Amino acid sequence: MPIERTQNVVILGATGSIGASTLSVMSMHPQRYSVYALVANTNVDKMLALCLVHQPVIAHMVDENAAMALKAAMPPNLGITVTTGIDTLIDLVTSSQTDTVMAAIVGAAGLLPTFAAVKAGKRVLLANKEALVMSGALFMQARRQSGAELLPVDSEHNAIFQCLPEAVQTNLGFCSLDDAGVSSILLTGSGGPFLTVPLERLASMTPAQACKHPNWSMGPKISVDSATMMNKGLEFIEARWLFNPRAEQLKVVVHPQSVIHSMVQYRDGSVLAQMGNPDMRTPIAHCMSYPNRIESGVEALDFFKLGDLSFCEAATARFPCLHLAIQACAQGQEATTVLNAANEVAVEAFLAGQIGFTQIAAINDSCLTQVPQSSLNSIDDILQLDSLTRQHAWQAVKRIR
Ligand code: NAD
Ligand code: MG
Repeated sequence: MPIERTQNVVILGATGSIGASTLSVMSMHPQRYSVYALVANTNVDKMLALCLVHQPVIAHMVDENAAMALKAAMPPNLGITVTTGIDTLIDLVTSSQTDTVMAAIVGAAGLLPTFAAVKAGKRVLLANKEALVMSGALFMQARRQSGAELLPVDSEHNAIFQCLPEAVQTNLGFCSLDDAGVSSILLTGSGGPFLTVPLERLASMTPAQACKHPNWSMGPKISVDSATMMNKGLEFIEARWLFNPRAEQLKVVVHPQSVIHSMVQYRDGSVLAQMGNPDMRTPIAHCMSYPNRIESGVEALDFFKLGDLSFCEAATARFPCLHLAIQACAQGQEATTVLNAANEVAVEAFLAGQIGFTQIAAINDSCLTQVPQSSLNSIDDILQLDSLTRQHAWQAVKRIR
């Protein structure tokens, strides 16, 4: 396949786990992709190290002090421009120089730049699931209006995308699964590190134990979300916006080995699954090169070494956060925005040793029942509800401490 021209890529969340995997795939294909800009929040040392290796045109730190420190440390002969501030970031992602945006900032902080990239009609590789959890309807409408190409990086959604026909792939958010002959989408999840821990011991699980995922290596927030299965809950909501299923067409299946990354069941009894070693470079390479295929650096799956693949249901008593998310999804975008903000605060408090593991679900539940949910018609409305929920959640953390 001839390569048209080098694509200029902006990586939002460059210093994180997805950022590292993206840079690893890109460096295997310098003739296809060029690192136009790297974006991070506060990690100056890591950003400087990335700049020395990848030499972007722009290095953007959202935190102003971090940007000043980076500027002072940057060797002038590299000619890298250091910028800061949210308006400058929006200008960067929407600039005519930018072709592709990897949206991999963690949490609600990713919403504004990701939404801006979609509105500007960029090719958007979406890892930041929180953007869809918070703004699903507005986000998908903006995508349709601008014609932005949206490719799901999250391994499950990428797997589902790969198992669906082109008519669905090119009409995300507004596709008809019935027309495509799909009966259900099976969203798989490993069950995380606590799948078999006795229920009475869950309350004493530590952040270090929660972050030790059996199969995937990820950032701390999503690792804790995997232990509570809130990650699967957020992914359930993400899948609802991407693939437009009816509630009964979307099911969660626990699959501890993480070899199958999700499946699509068709009307005629066929089930299509996407498999591979659990390594985010595969879905990233798929999104970067779609509809073509490029090497990702991931080892091929060896079926003779695989061992058994097993499946079970996600029990409500063990994974209350997952069930809160499924309920919130049925209620609508107000509830999912509240849940996302509450959970970010609860996870931060858990990682800081301020609350116990099982109190994450308690805080989420209290926010869902107590925060007043007015209707959301704009990104400003969403950000206001997000901030109101955070205040409520921090008060709940204080009461526990
Ligand atoms: P991480 O914690 O490793 O990295 C987070 C990145 O976000 C860092 O570069 C950080 O600088 C940046 N960031 C944080 N707050 C910011 C702010 N206020 N403004 C600007 N940048 C900010 O996280 P990760 O594991 O790479 O996950 C990134 C996103 O991808 C998350 O939304 C996560 O749910 C999603 N995701 C990750 C994986 C995975 O395997 N890691 C898989 C699927 C989806
Ligand atoms: Mg995932």
